[in-house]
Amino acid sequence: MSTPIKCLIQNLNLVIGCDIGCPYCYARNNCRRFHMTDDFDVPVFFERKLRLMENPKPHTWLLTGMSDLAGWEPEWVERTFERMRAHPEHSFIFLTKRPERLDLPIVPDNAWVGVTVTRASELRRIDELCGRVRGGHLHVTFEPLFEDLGPIDFSRVEWTVVGTETGRRRGKVDACPEWVASIARQARDHGVLVFMKEALEPIMGDESMVQELPKSFATNLR
Ligand code: SF4
Repeated sequence: MSTPIKCLIQNLNLVIGCDIGCPYCYARNNCRRFHMTDDFDVPVFFERKLRLMENPKPHTWLLTGMSDLAGWEPEWVERTFERMRAHPEHSFIFLTKRPERLDLPIVPDNAWVGVTVTRASELRRIDELCGRVRGGHLHVTFEPLFEDLGPIDFSRVEWTVVGTETGRRRGKVDACPEWVASIARQARDHGVLVFMKEALEPIMGDESMVQELPKSFATNLR
């Protein structure tokens, strides 16, 4: 039985808004439904949420559940990194689909900066990420997975997440078990940890599910 990733990694949406326009974006719908901001295309920084990092219980937080790191203003990044450095007991995860736009200061040790890859034509994002990020840890999320990716360069990556599209979008694509198995096999060959999200369980079967997390993450799953 797999564990839902939300039980292990919580969202801390310091920034809400993104203009990339993915057709499968749930954040845009949530933003509209709960009227979180006036215009999802314009990212807004909710600085007061930084105080949640004062929580004495160690957490692992995804900071880009409703944004893309490349859309953050430099001063938002600086203030967030500063607070993260003051709280080494927590771990923080960032994602971007535009690594070519990243211009980050040195990344704190407790940060995991990653790219999302959904198709083979997006694999170049991994190279961009590796070339632009100094410090911290690197990861790749393959979700939603739309096709077989072929060979993947995992040489500088420490962790990978794989998932299939969820929701009811017209034209929704279900990942094939062979696509997922290929990613997992290549990651394993490079000593990279693999986490398959719970929506893959009906596709992969319970016995093929793998859910590994970095040791530094503050969760009970190992
Ligand atoms: S990058 Fe993320 S937040 Fe931005 S549109 Fe795509 S799914 Fe939504």
